[in-house]
Amino acid sequence: MATKTTVGLIGWRGMVGSVLVDRMTAERDFDVCEPHFFSTSQAGAAAPIGGTPQIAGAPVVRDAFDLDSLAELDVLISCQGGDYTARVHPDLRRRGWSGFWIDAASTLRLSDDAVIVLDPVNRDIIDRALDRGVRDLVGGNCTVSLMLMALAPLIRRGWVEWLSSMTYQAASGAGAAALVELCEQMRRLGDRLAPVLDDPGARLLELDRQVAAGFSDPGLPISALGAPLAASLIPWIDRAMEHGDTREEWKGMVETQRILDLDPALPVDGICVRVGALRCHSQAVLLKLRRDLPLADIEAELASAHPWLRVIENTPEATRARLTPAAVSGSLE
Ligand code: NAP
Repeated sequence: MATKTTVGLIGWRGMVGSVLVDRMTAERDFDVCEPHFFSTSQAGAAAPIGGTPQIAGAPVVRDAFDLDSLAELDVLISCQGGDYTARVHPDLRRRGWSGFWIDAASTLRLSDDAVIVLDPVNRDIIDRALDRGVRDLVGGNCTVSLMLMALAPLIRRGWVEWLSSMTYQAASGAGAAALVELCEQMRRLGDRLAPVLDDPGARLLELDRQVAAGFSDPGLPISALGAPLAASLIPWIDRAMEHGDTREEWKGMVETQRILDLDPALPVDGICVRVGALRCHSQAVLLKLRRDLPLADIEAELASAHPWLRVIENTPEATRARLTPAAVSGSLE
């Protein structure tokens, strides 16, 4: 019987990792590989799925910093974050480990030895990288990936001269702790509002006053998000770059070129804003086209691009029903 490919999962407890394990389970990927679960904080705990080493019959989580254990495996998938990649990946490669490293963090995205994976739109670029021996496969920034899932068909046709994206990014993009924190903020504000909502004689502006007081309540948790997000937004994501843009905005330009292997480069600018959606980022994009194109041609190009792209009719009814985080979140469209 053929032996199964051994796969180590690091970061499976986090936001990206949870979604990934959920998808891999739904796709029955664990039937065809042997999973081993690692953690930087939970070594020895029960593993979510079998395959990993056993203590007294139950599969257990292994130490994510144990290079010997990692180096035994054919494939390592890290959704743990950039610091972990920077600490572990170079040591593994230095000791001659030649397996596939699949990563969600940005650390390796611009490395010559890596390719950014967005297979519905850059499968040809991934295949060429594999042919030349690339073994580091890295997911792109979520907002850039989503933008290109929608717009790569137009860019690859050479129709776009430049673009500017305005994002409305969900709390999930900042990780598990941020998502939990947004829910905690909603609960805390909700607790303040409940008596006002329950009082038929309460004045409208009392709702507003309670929310404003809630924002400055020292008990409102903000350690993960850095500011109140429930009933608000945060116009800054990630750290500052040299020219006054955020690193999240900067990634729009550099990762677009890299994912689509564009030469000459396509100018990409944007403004990234965190909003109080739980999951599912939204974006508005301004495109400068190279020539005058009928809207119907653009819609037809998008509608046939790949199975995960839907063109929604531009009406109040259709967009409210199908173009909101509430409608899209958790689906593959
Ligand atoms: P995350 O949710 O913060 O999880 C990272 C790790 O934090 C977990 O694997 C877990 O590691 C630890 N952790 C600590 N407290 C936790 C808690 N309460 N619940 C769950 N895990 C907890 O990070 P992430 O958002 O998945 O991002 C991982 C990497 O992917 C980052 O480099 C990020 O930039 C990148 N990325 C994220 C997104 C996104 O939408 N979130 C999209 C694209 C790329 P231990 O088991 O070792 O403790």
